Amino acid sequence: MTQTEAIGSLTEAPNTDNNPQQNREKSLNTLQLQVLGMRCAGCVSAVEKRLLTCPGVVSASVNLLTEKARIVWDQAVERQSVIESMVKVLAAIGFEASEISLNTKLINHSRTEAKSWNQGIWVALALISLAVVGHLAPVPILKNMYAHWVIATLALAFPGRQIWWDGLKALMNGIPNMNSLIGIGAISAYTASTLALYVPGLQWHCFFEEPVMLLGFVLIGRQLEQRAKKQAASALESLIRLQPPTARLILGEGDQELVIPLENVQVGDCLSILPGEKIPVDGIVLAGISNVDQSMLTGESLSLVKSPGVEVTGATLNLSQKLIIETTKIGEATTLGQIIELVEQAQASKAPIQRLVDQIAGYFTYTVMAIAVATLIFWWGIWQSELIFSLKMSISVLAIACPCALGLATPSAILVGTGMGAEQGILIKGGEILENVHHLTGIVFDKTGTLTLGQPEVTDIFAATLTEPELLSLVASSETGANHPIAKAILTKAQQLNLNLPIASTENTLGMGVLAQVVEQEILVGNQAWLDLHQIFIPLDWQEKAENLAKNGKTPILVAIDEIFAGMIALEDQLKPEAKTVIAQLHKMGLEVWMLTGDRLSTSQSVAAQLGIPLDHVIAEVLPEQKAKVIRDLQAENHKIAMVGDGINDAPALAVAAVGIALGTGTEVAMETADIVLIQPNLTKVIEALNLSHATFNKIQQNLFWALIYNSVGIPIAAGILYPSFGIYLNPMWAGLAMAFSSVSVVTNSLLLRRTSVST
Ligand code: ADP
Ligand code: MG
Repeated sequence: MTQTEAIGSLTEAPNTDNNPQQNREKSLNTLQLQVLGMRCAGCVSAVEKRLLTCPGVVSASVNLLTEKARIVWDQAVERQSVIESMVKVLAAIGFEASEISLNTKLINHSRTEAKSWNQGIWVALALISLAVVGHLAPVPILKNMYAHWVIATLALAFPGRQIWWDGLKALMNGIPNMNSLIGIGAISAYTASTLALYVPGLQWHCFFEEPVMLLGFVLIGRQLEQRAKKQAASALESLIRLQPPTARLILGEGDQELVIPLENVQVGDCLSILPGEKIPVDGIVLAGISNVDQSMLTGESLSLVKSPGVEVTGATLNLSQKLIIETTKIGEATTLGQIIELVEQAQASKAPIQRLVDQIAGYFTYTVMAIAVATLIFWWGIWQSELIFSLKMSISVLAIACPCALGLATPSAILVGTGMGAEQGILIKGGEILENVHHLTGIVFDKTGTLTLGQPEVTDIFAATLTEPELLSLVASSETGANHPIAKAILTKAQQLNLNLPIASTENTLGMGVLAQVVEQEILVGNQAWLDLHQIFIPLDWQEKAENLAKNGKTPILVAIDEIFAGMIALEDQLKPEAKTVIAQLHKMGLEVWMLTGDRLSTSQSVAAQLGIPLDHVIAEVLPEQKAKVIRDLQAENHKIAMVGDGINDAPALAVAAVGIALGTGTEVAMETADIVLIQPNLTKVIEALNLSHATFNKIQQNLFWALIYNSVGIPIAAGILYPSFGIYLNPMWAGLAMAFSSVSVVTNSLLLRRTSVST
């Protein structure tokens, strides 16, 4: 962009990027529900549909694995009434729901996640072994069909009851799930065998071992699945566990300490932390100097020195000396609370492909039941096979169908992927982002604070009219109100030289500079566009001088006093040491790399040259509010863009980019608008985040592929498609085993993600 364009746009309405969507979201809020009793993707879509019927609910996203629903509600409706109506509609279709907050999370973390199916498992195993022994061994009593009947009745009445009972309830509520399929299968097998036993005239044969083994395999499979799920969810739980359960509250004059539960700590409380203890909340050090290990939050093993006035973060470890802190944030407001919130949000989210799968799964169980009926009709009615044989085929269809594998495909991978990320200070906000990362073609970096350290230093002072210290002192006074890194650098320089700063009133224009009133004098400090805008004449030799400084990577800041050009100050910012290799790696990954900055073009090009960014990929002299437009323009040219920024004025650009990556926990705005938050300001984390997203997305695709293949191959085989030509068919119990295997294998495949290395 040229200088004139930049100026021209100043007169336009600023803030064109303030979209109505964001304003709308301000009136919305999110909350979380724990929803118990969901079995498969069919239940997920049923729950989501019902939640959307509640007044005030704007959107609902349900995660089968964590059994949590994330609801966005309109603040116009009272929170409590939204919760009540949601709990009610879910109860009506057989799901138990309750609200979750960070406090309940902290207290309940020991009994979190799904209930285990432990109870029935030993009974199931015993029954299975009886059935197997009865099949193979010459134990007379076990050859007896009445003994088989007893075993099968026990199996259905005790361990198996939870399956068919739940299945029937769900069927009656109009949302059949996988338990309905298994339940119908087991009950019809049991009923047919019982009839065969007690009405010999029918000349049917008994197959009691089938329902027993079917239920047994399903229960064992579920147990394994449950374990794998727990492992998948462990990262979030370990995040929650990072917080110490208690804190040492300092009473009165500080001579007394009281150990209190973490929930009772209030903002403003003074706490003491002994060496070796965790800091319970976010706060500011009042007394003591100590090393603090923050690796649990950042993933980087580097201890920092904390002294009075410095901020400390909850859940980090105090290493060397006793610290006294004042509490500034508690509960969900702490850094850890926000990280947990982000991870949960991510884990409740879905990849867009999963939404489609959930929709299919809503009809899946009905379809399977229809196929089962068709199978029975075909073999018995058309093929004229024996009724029992036909019935077995039909039961196998019910048993092999696995809506569960479909339902777990995405959430299990997202759970493991986002969990791994959280452990390394990479917060990926959800499934959709993984898909977007997968399609990226380019990446745009903000310069200041992202590619550079963002701590410029004054290198040269050139005065045209006054002496150099006089110029610096006037400029520093003018910059007192500004919060820009340039302003801070100039103030630091003035302090170092012990200059006294006259009182000034200043006005800061973002991305341009300041206009100040210093003792009767009007001072302008800023870039060339800023001086041009005020029609200040800059002598040609000074323009050349500025350009030369810029070509060496320095940022010249120009000064005018009472509308007369008065000199300039040059600043230089250090590049981050890892920047060059990271950009080379991104190029190798096939991404185009751009630099986006408000700084002068020649300064930026000089920096770009050092980093290996092509000069025509430097987009400089862009005003803060235009950064989003630049990203939008690139995307209009069919680029899929990731924007990396430190967030101070990059939030709109982060929001517009296909993937917004905020570097360093700097600002809350950035944390909110970005899609990926990197806790450390280290650029190598950008590559790690991309690698992790790719790996997770690949897992999702693999899982969905296998779940779909499994069902679309398994169901026809169970229906007997191979029987006429090859004589191959499946007994219900083998179908049950295959079903159990498929959902376990999906979750296990997701767990394998942990083996992938994402580091560079
Ligand atoms: P970046 O995109 O590099 O973060 P900004 O958009 O914040 O940069 O600023 C762009 C340019 O505007 C700076 O390089 C500087 O020349 C000028 N500028 C902005 N604020 C100030 C200030 N307070 N004092 C002097 N110059 C400023
Ligand atoms: Mg910046």
